[in-house]
Amino acid sequence: MKELVIVGGGPAGLSAAIYAARAGLDFVVLERDGFGGGQITSSHEVENYPGAGRMSGFDLGEAFRNQALELGAEIRHGSAAGLKDRGDCKELILDSGESVLAKAVIAATGAAPKKLGVPGEKEFTGAGVSYCATCDGAFFRGRDTLVVGGGDTAVEDALFLSALCKSVTVALRRDVFRAAKRRVELLKAKENVTILYKTNLTEIRGEGRVGSVILSGPEGAVERSMDGVFLAVGVEPAGGWLAGLPLRLEDGYVAAGEDCRTDIPGLFAAGDLRKKPLRQVVTAAADGANAVTSTLDYLGRA
Ligand SMILES: Cc1cc2nc3c(=O)[nH]c(=O)nc-3n(C[C@H](O)[C@H](O)[C@H](O)COP(=O)(O)OP(=O)(O)OC[C@H]3O[C@@H](n4cnc5c(N)ncnc54)[C@H](O)[C@@H]3O)c2cc1C
Repeated sequence: MKELVIVGGGPAGLSAAIYAARAGLDFVVLERDGFGGGQITSSHEVENYPGAGRMSGFDLGEAFRNQALELGAEIRHGSAAGLKDRGDCKELILDSGESVLAKAVIAATGAAPKKLGVPGEKEFTGAGVSYCATCDGAFFRGRDTLVVGGGDTAVEDALFLSALCKSVTVALRRDVFRAAKRRVELLKAKENVTILYKTNLTEIRGEGRVGSVILSGPEGAVERSMDGVFLAVGVEPAGGWLAGLPLRLEDGYVAAGEDCRTDIPGLFAAGDLRKKPLRQVVTAAADGANAVTSTLDYLGRA
């Protein structure tokens, strides 16, 4: 029986690990991906995490992880599939079928890219369809790519790809971007970028890997030859493993205040998984610290 299990090894979970280690808690971090570090590791460049200057998201994720490890955190590889509240303790069920018992749990599983749900998306994921331009863009050097979405991530993806690819087509549903104006202007000025407003991607075609896409716009449906498709249509909370618990959700995010306490005593929600106005590394890290403070209080160790 651990005092605490932290589920998720992104900025929130690793910040919690740093605070838990320094507080002398008996705890483990459970992380689904081999390396962890969370969503930020897919960011080309981060320049708004105070004190870190400008660095790649991968380096920032690695710095979080190394700091937690140096302070003595144990990071275990595994994916949470369910959680049972047994009153005086929680039973975390892993997808391997194993269980971990803990007095308290910090849920820090963040968010994951939304799927578009069009024919060909699932079939060609990893074979031309990607959710991370900075991770996979280099495979499309000198090729024709499509970015779907009109938010900050789509604009950043398209800017990043424009430096590598022969052409970048951006398809967005609306007639206007929902992204930082300065970055949109920069994108519009790129010679190899074409922007298609009021346009939906309706199908991805190919043989073994992406070969073409069907784009439906004001002029009807058109098939275009394409090598890569980058989907940037938003993110959704990764809280499926909490299903069935009497938790308040708001838009799918776990309802909890700044102290990260949920409706279930001993269960805390930190980072992007928590309902809050700003989802960034700095707020995720703050949540990790606050969640451990609340855990210490819950365990009577404050
Ligand atoms: C492309 C991109 C660029 C960004 N740029 C910036 C930026 O410049 N500045 C900024 O401040 N923020 C940026 N963000 C947002 C920032 O990355 C997030 O706000 C932050 O990572 C949230 O941290 P988190 O720990 O709450 O969640 P996440 O980073 O989502 O981490 C959650 C972790 O939990 C793991 N996990 C999920 N489900 C399970 C499970 N069932 N079992 C075990 N582990 C699980 C995941 O593998 C992941 O490692 C960016 C995000 C993206 C996608």
